[in-house]
Amino acid sequence: MARIWVLGNGQLGAMLKQAANPLNLTVIPVDIDSTAAIDLAPGDLVTAEREQWPETPITQQLANHPNFVNLSVFPTLADRKTQKSLIDQLGLGTAPWRAVEGNTTAADLHQQLGENVLLKRRSGGYDGRGQHWLRTSAPSQIPEDWGDHAIAEQAIAFDEELSLVGARDRDGKVFFYPLTLNLNTDGILRATVAPVARLQQWQRQAEQMLTSLLNELDYVGVMGMELFRRGDEILINELAPRVHNTGHWTQAGATINQFEYHMRAVAGLPLTQAWVKASSVMINLIGCEWDQRWLAVPGAEVYWYGKSVRPGRKVGHINLCCADTGSLISSLQQLAPLFGEDYQQPIQWAVGHLK
Ligand code: ATP
Ligand code: MG
Ligand code: MG
Repeated sequence: MARIWVLGNGQLGAMLKQAANPLNLTVIPVDIDSTAAIDLAPGDLVTAEREQWPETPITQQLANHPNFVNLSVFPTLADRKTQKSLIDQLGLGTAPWRAVEGNTTAADLHQQLGENVLLKRRSGGYDGRGQHWLRTSAPSQIPEDWGDHAIAEQAIAFDEELSLVGARDRDGKVFFYPLTLNLNTDGILRATVAPVARLQQWQRQAEQMLTSLLNELDYVGVMGMELFRRGDEILINELAPRVHNTGHWTQAGATINQFEYHMRAVAGLPLTQAWVKASSVMINLIGCEWDQRWLAVPGAEVYWYGKSVRPGRKVGHINLCCADTGSLISSLQQLAPLFGEDYQQPIQWAVGHLK
């Protein structure tokens, strides 16, 4: 039985373990700050649930293991500068950008990229953290200490946000889910809907884009590619070398979910094309308290991460998948009154895209 160590022990590690349990795999998520000795064996495998990690005794031990899958990919994608350079190098569409250097000024960036420029810390940002808008309408400066540590992107007036989650096996075969429609508010993912029939027209192009990245990186496992759709074109927002929040719906809506794909690929087990069962909606639980009434909603599958609740923190998600769209809409309408004001718009957004 193969043993797979996961660098990081957050919700993604927990869900990887859950998915791998029936596959005769032993999965061990590891707290990066743990000082406990681990019996890492030469034949074990290592993967990660996060893009980046500090050097601790245990992360060093894992990173020195010869079977750390995709090890060399993490630094490239965890740094937005090298990630965007890779996207450019492959000729794939993305928001025009510049590296912010020590002497770069806001005026330089406006001149090169336009009136609205989004600064993003090169590494460590997530859920919209580590971002800063520069707008000529309300002039501001590049935050202190961001020189050399950020990139600047042109603001994209996108119509909507999509993502493609795909898996590549050790032989280089690739498998994709249908494009997912995503609602991000203030930089944090609130809800997703998939599949959405009208998005089919960008499926092939998105698959080609992600395939070229996966092949270039000789990547094994699941990767998430976030996209902006602007008119007919799709542009890459960012890449995540791991299972992705916009793929959580596959736990309810697909025969093989993204966590299982990742574990199969990393373990060198066979992959087959997942079948999508029906339309699914995922609602992120952000900074809210546990509520068992969620479980009374037909078709709702609740994933509670067991983390302490803080404003703006992802503490769980609810997947909904029902036999038909009418039932799914009805379940969302039953869910809505169980939440406060800030959930009403994401829930109605999802309903609107199912009609
Ligand atoms: P995640 O939690 O997905 O890792 P993140 O903190 O890494 O998020 P991004 O995905 O780069 O950040 O940006 C967060 C959100 O900010 C995007 O989903 C989008 O809504 C908005 N955004 C990002 N880049 C741009 C851009 N160039 N133009 C307009 N909006 C943008
Ligand atoms: Mg990100
Ligand atoms: Mg993102």
